[in-house]
Amino acid sequence: MAFSVIAYKALQDVLGEDNVTCDPVVCQSYSRVQWLPPGVLQRERCGLDMRPACVAMPNSTEEVQAIVKIANRYKFPFIPRGSGFTFSAFPTMAGTLVIDPKRMNRIIELDEQDMYAVIEPYVSFVGLQAEAMKVGLTVPTPLAGAHVSCLANYSWHGAYGNSWLTGIGAQNLLGFELVLPTGDIVRSGSMACPGAGYFWNDGPGPDLRGFLRGGMFGHAGGMGMVTKISCKLWQWPGPSVWPTKGNANEKTSSGFPTDQFRWYMIKFPYRYPEEEEMELKKSAELFYEMGKAEIACVATHLAKQFLYTYSSQTKQDLFDNMKNNVFPCGFVVVGLQAVTSLKQLEYEEKVLKELVAKVGGLFVQEDEPAYRTWIGRVANEWLRFGNAQRLARPSDNFSIGSSNVDSIDMIVFDIMEGNKVERELLEGPEHLGKDFVQPLSVHGGWISPQEYGYWCLMTTDVFPEQAPEQAKEAIEIIGRVTRKQVENKSSAAVIHLLGPSYEMLGPMFGNIHLIMKKFKTEFDPYNLSNPGYAVRPDVVSPAELQKMTGGH
Ligand SMILES: Cc1cc2nc3c(=O)[nH]c(=O)nc-3n(C[C@H](O)[C@H](O)[C@H](O)COP(=O)(O)OP(=O)(O)OC[C@H]3O[C@@H](n4cnc5c(N)ncnc54)[C@H](O)[C@@H]3O)c2cc1C
Repeated sequence: MAFSVIAYKALQDVLGEDNVTCDPVVCQSYSRVQWLPPGVLQRERCGLDMRPACVAMPNSTEEVQAIVKIANRYKFPFIPRGSGFTFSAFPTMAGTLVIDPKRMNRIIELDEQDMYAVIEPYVSFVGLQAEAMKVGLTVPTPLAGAHVSCLANYSWHGAYGNSWLTGIGAQNLLGFELVLPTGDIVRSGSMACPGAGYFWNDGPGPDLRGFLRGGMFGHAGGMGMVTKISCKLWQWPGPSVWPTKGNANEKTSSGFPTDQFRWYMIKFPYRYPEEEEMELKKSAELFYEMGKAEIACVATHLAKQFLYTYSSQTKQDLFDNMKNNVFPCGFVVVGLQAVTSLKQLEYEEKVLKELVAKVGGLFVQEDEPAYRTWIGRVANEWLRFGNAQRLARPSDNFSIGSSNVDSIDMIVFDIMEGNKVERELLEGPEHLGKDFVQPLSVHGGWISPQEYGYWCLMTTDVFPEQAPEQAKEAIEIIGRVTRKQVENKSSAAVIHLLGPSYEMLGPMFGNIHLIMKKFKTEFDPYNLSNPGYAVRPDVVSPAELQKMTGGH
């Protein structure tokens, strides 16, 4: 659909001719999720051309506000985006304007004393991390990669390699500035008090962070555009410049000084996959014990699929490692850091050794292939995520197979259930997933305990090839796993509360979709801010819902 000439001129008046375009070639480059080739999953599923009609690049909150007001006047949909690594950052209808924040990339403040930063939408994790480390601070980074927008991640989703210590994005977000879908500006947290600054998440009135968040995934651009946030920074005892060796695929983080940081890999003496459940339960026991002792900055359980994909340097390397059974099962990975002193690090190491012995675990030795491959190559990367694209290496494609947030015990249950459904589908008469990269696809389960194990997050992934038939199979598998989770009344569904699934799963969660619709209608009366997210105000027909959710 052609973009309205008069709206385009109004945008040019505000932004200047160089910062707005309807050029189809430029717009095409904003038309698909960057880690998937065209034709895979998104088009197959939506049957849509995702090319926007127009792209605008504002340079300030006032310019964002002007764009949103023009959108309200001429009634075109708009999508605020970060780096565009997620489906929900792409148009689902014709005539959409994408707001690209590339020019809003300033770190406005980095407060060493009170440990927070104030940033604009296009500050990446890597940019903030580099500045923070110079002053002995750090920022948790998502597996998506350090190139993504810190603001988009914190105000939308947020799960990290060191969530054991930091929690998810919601726990790291402090104050924010938001241009509402109508063009009004809201400031939340301490900055709602004139002159108080951005240092804290609480201010007068209700805590507005909930306004941006959903079950786990938040507003997804459906509540206007966030133009500034303040976020927590954490202590970093390590080197002020990240040590690396090699280039491109071969690049690894060389060792951190052992008086600042130490890695451990722990296994349990059970047969895999026959006794997978015992192995996971023992890992959970270890996490609970570590939580009680309040030790470590990283504690996570990595399934085979994560270990192989994230550690591989090339496709050949990945398949060689699988052939050589480098990771015969999942492993617990723990990182300790000397936040205060070497003495503290040594104390934590002593406690860890006692706890591992108590739950019957064994430390993986330095000369074992699993240790050499994981700790030697990528463990450090778990803190800064230089390897995100490797997840797509096996088939140039992947999709989350299941996900959940709950207690660690329930996460173990859910991983077992998810793997069981997927293995049965593979072995059953339909042989669903038989052409996916195996055995990766049926050995999932990232256990990511949060905040010393107070709660937990998990995901499993599937690795279909880039072919529409396999994409259909992937959707079928994901649907069946999710259906099982719903049957089990597992709170897995909470993480899927995004877009059409609000309609489907809302009744399980006190009809949250109804209140979300009210919010959307109230604050976005013309349904212009990323329509479809976080919930569509206008879905009423069960048939339409069925179609949108792939029949599940
Ligand atoms: C391989 C891979 C691994 C991943 N692993 C993780 C992980 O471990 N943890 C994790 O948290 N996520 C993960 N993700 C999901 C996602 O990529 C990240 O959450 C990422 O941070 C999104 O950042 P982005 O800059 O690309 O945002 P975008 O994709 O551009 O935007 C995300 C959403 O937020 C909205 N949005 C963006 N900017 C604004 C703004 N200024 N105001 C209002 N709304 C806005 C967009 O409309 C969109 O709906 C992963 C993705 C991939 C492909």
